[in-house]
Formats: sequence, structure tokens, C-alpha cells
Amino acid sequence: MGKEVLIKPSGFSLADLSPDHVVKVDLKGTVLEGEYKPSTDMPWHLMIYERRPEVKAIVHAHPPVSGGFACAGVSLDVPTFTEVIIQVGRIPLMEYATPTTMDYAMLIADSMKDTDALLMKNHGTITLGANLEQAFQRTELLEDFAKLVLVATVLGGPKHLPPEEAYKLRTLESEKWRMKLAEELYR
Ligand SMILES: [Zn+2]
Repeated sequence: MGKEVLIKPSGFSLADLSPDHVVKVDLKGTVLEGEYKPSTDMPWHLMIYERRPEVKAIVHAHPPVSGGFACAGVSLDVPTFTEVIIQVGRIPLMEYATPTTMDYAMLIADSMKDTDALLMKNHGTITLGANLEQAFQRTELLEDFAKLVLVATVLGGPKHLPPEEAYKLRTLESEKWRMKLAEELYR
């Protein structure tokens, strides 16, 4: 397991970031390299890396459509789209907690103990990955999925796949191979 974490600095918008701004910390949050203060989201990032050694990247975002579901308190944990079941898995809807507090950090870490995607009420999304590319692709897929569910809702509501089919999709041998390949490509 790696002992160093790269994280965005506090106070910078993502659009203004360059590699020089990135802060390197250890798993206790001590700054090892970088001129800026680490993000106020650092505590829960470190908790996830501590608890889930297979996780090597975390993407937290405020995407407009999945964020709309989050603000409406409408779950995206809907077993309807094969690609999401295979690549993202379950998407719990986390209760609201005040950002930057320790209660918030603990709630996120607890909510993500066995899932790679999270919808946070009144806030946004978090996805995890074996590398940055995978975590980023999961955020993009989640946002596309929110659009798809919105359209399906207009057309009478998404049709759920039965639990045994969702389980089958999550454990497909062919898909395990594809996921492993994707993890290795972007390592
Ligand atoms: Zn946020």
C-alpha cells in the first residue's frame, strides 16, 4: 500500500490548477511537498485510502445532473443500466452532513466502506478507482446515468433488472477481464 497521497490544494478552483499546486501528504495528513494547504476534504480522502488499500484514486465532483438528483434527495441506486451495474456497482445516497466537519468525514468513509460510488444529499458525487482514470470514468458514467434515468422517468420510469441478474452482471468473468485490463492500461 502506498504511503503518499497527492491532493488538490484548498481554495483553488479546478480550472486554475497546475501540477505545481498539487500537495503531497502522508496518510496522517502531514504535508510532505507543496506550497499550499491541502483541501479541506483531506480527512475523508485519507480515511478511505486507509480503509480501502485497493483504492488508489478518488474523484469528488459537483456535476449538474447527478447533483440535481442529490439535491432533490432522489436515489440513483437503480439497477436498470447494465454498464453502470458492471462498472460502478451500487450507488448509495448519503444523508446530508455539514462539509468540512469530522461527522461529515466519518459519514463519507462509512458510506464508502464497500462501494465505489456515492451520491451525497445536497452536495455531489464521489467515485473511487484503482487509478485516476477509472475514478474519473466512473464520475462521467454516473453523470450520464443520471441523464438516462431522467429520460427513463419521463418515459414511464426505469425498469429494474431483478437482483439475480444484477448479481450476475457484477460477477461476469468476461467483465472481470475487461476491468482488469482497464486497470492495467492506466496504472
Ligand atoms: Zn464538494
